[in-house]
Order: sequence, then C-alpha cells, then structure tokens
Amino acid sequence: MRVGFLGLGAIGSPMAAHLARRDELMVWNRTASRAQAFAARYGCRAAATPREVASHAQVVLTCLPTSHEVEALLEGADGLEAGLRSGALFVDCTSGDPATSRRIAQRLSRYGVAFADAPVSGGVVGAEAGTLTIMVGADPGTFDRARPVLAAFGKRIEHLGPVGAGHAMKAVNNALIAVNILALGEGLAALVKAGVSARTAVNVLNSSNGRSFVSEVLVPERVLTGSWPRTFRLALLDKDVGIAREFLQETGVDAPVLDLAGKLFSRARAELGDGADHLEAIKLIERQAGVEIRG
Ligand code: NDP
Repeated sequence: MRVGFLGLGAIGSPMAAHLARRDELMVWNRTASRAQAFAARYGCRAAATPREVASHAQVVLTCLPTSHEVEALLEGADGLEAGLRSGALFVDCTSGDPATSRRIAQRLSRYGVAFADAPVSGGVVGAEAGTLTIMVGADPGTFDRARPVLAAFGKRIEHLGPVGAGHAMKAVNNALIAVNILALGEGLAALVKAGVSARTAVNVLNSSNGRSFVSEVLVPERVLTGSWPRTFRLALLDKDVGIAREFLQETGVDAPVLDLAGKLFSRARAELGDGADHLEAIKLIERQAGVEIRG
C-alpha cells in the first residue's frame, strides 16, 4: 500500500519505521534533514512538501504536537489538501483535540477524504516494539479501513466512537498520568523527608494498591536513578491536560482535580522549558521540599 507519514518526532519516528518495513512509504518532516536521514536508514522516500506525500499516498498519517499543526499542514500550495485525492484516508495519530479534528474531518469530507483520529499510548518503547494502544475516533467504515494500517505499530486498536472520541479518550488517559506524577512526587518527597528510603517506598507502593504505571515504571526508571531521559515532553503532557479539561467542561463535569493539575503542569512548563521531559515536574516538588527522591 502507498502510505505517507508526516512528523518524525520522538514517537512518530519509530511508528513510521514499522510502516517502512511493510508499505511503500513516503515521509515528510518540518526539519528536512530528519526525513532524509530516516529515508536513508529505512529505505523509503523523503518528500520535499506535504503535498508530495498526499499525492503519493492512499493513506496519510500525521503525528504532530497538536491538532493545530495538523490543520496548518493542510493549507497552501504545498499543503496536504493540494495533493489529497478523493478516496484517500487521513489518520491523525497526534494527541489532538476533538473540536479541531471534527473541523478537519468535515473539511476533508468535501473532497471525499475520510478521517480518523488515532492517538496512541505506550510511549517510545511501545512504538519501537509495535505494541501501542490506539484510540480511534471515526465512523465504523473508516475505522475498518484504518485498523490494518494501524496494526503496523499497534496491538490494542479500539474504536471509541465518532471523530474526536479517540482524542477525548487519550486526553483522559494522559490527565491521569499527570495527576499520578504530581501525587506520587509529593508523597515520595514527604516520605523521604521523614526518613523512608525512596526505593523501599516505591517497592511497597508497587506491591500495594496505590501503584500505577508512574510508580511501577516511570519513577523507578527515571527519578530513582536520576537519569531523567527525555522521551515525552512535559509541554505535550501540559497540552493533554488542557484538552482533558476542555473535554470535561464541554460535557458539564466539574474537574477541580484536573484544573489544579493543569495549573501545576503549566507552571512546571514555564519554569523548566519546552524541552523538559514530563517526569521532570517532580524536580520542582523536590526543589520545594528540599529533598532528592533517589535510591
Ligand atoms: P516531538 O516534539 O518529539 O516531535 C514533534 C514532531 O512534530 C516533529 O517531527 C516536529 O518536526 C513536528 N512539528 C513540530 N511543529 C511543527 C509544525 N509547526 N509544522 C510541522 N511539523 C511540526 O513530539 P512527539 O513525537 O513526542 O509527539 C508527537 C505527538 O504524539 C504529540 O501529540 C504527543 O502528545 C503524542 N505522543 C507522544 C508520546 C511520547 O512518548 N513521545 C506518547 C504518546 C503520544 P521537527 O523535527 O522539525 O521539530
């Protein structure tokens, strides 16, 4: 199948690598050197413009920071819209927002192009292993077309509802990660101050019912070791909490917990910068508490 992929970032790159092994892939990236290096490594073609990708592909996938960058890529003489053909399928793997995706879907439908939002979960490790969970919002026929494409890098591929439903699901998932990071960081800082070993505290949590992915994987690998790898930018998690807050507001559900998590993550983003990893929010808790959570 002729497939196009735009956005070779931290997670887009390993996702696209699976497609390169299977499909006739053409890639595009804003920083062209990254697309050229990817094409040389995986034996596929790098396009000069989004339009070139759209002209090539039966299925176009995007994985960009937000839905706004996706919408912007449609525009202009070199944009996706100039190259998309009737009958094509557009699958957006960005952790985006439901309202923008509904607008994009409506816009593309005028050209006979089907749209699915298909954000992913599982991190860079899951993308490399091809075991991502994928949350799809689309009409049932479009979902059936998207599923075999997404199977290149996904394990659990779930149809959540119409366009936007995938983004809503993903935002709720990531809001929980944000809340877990903050609550666990605060709790561990207090335990360490009280003289408990950070490693022991994490081990106890992980054999008790307060455990989460954050306590089982992220904190042991990144915080206790002090390695702080940068695989998922804090700025992107801040964006996800914002999408979740908007979604809860739209549905009329009060969200005091998410409101506070959103404020704390926005503050962390301002203090630590756009390049910081999401776990680095714990650095601010450590700083305030005057301890390091290591062990
Ligand atoms: P990165 O910041 O690593 O990469 C972003 C990508 O988008 C790069 O290819 C970048 O190009 C491109 N880009 C940025 N701005 C623009 C623009 N204005 N126009 C065109 N291209 C642009 O992000 P990730 O790969 O980590 O994340 C991508 C999406 O996946 C996000 O929505 C994120 O929330 C989601 N996600 C990320 C996960 C992770 O573990 N990293 C996990 C699950 C979801 P350039 O190379 O030129 O900078």
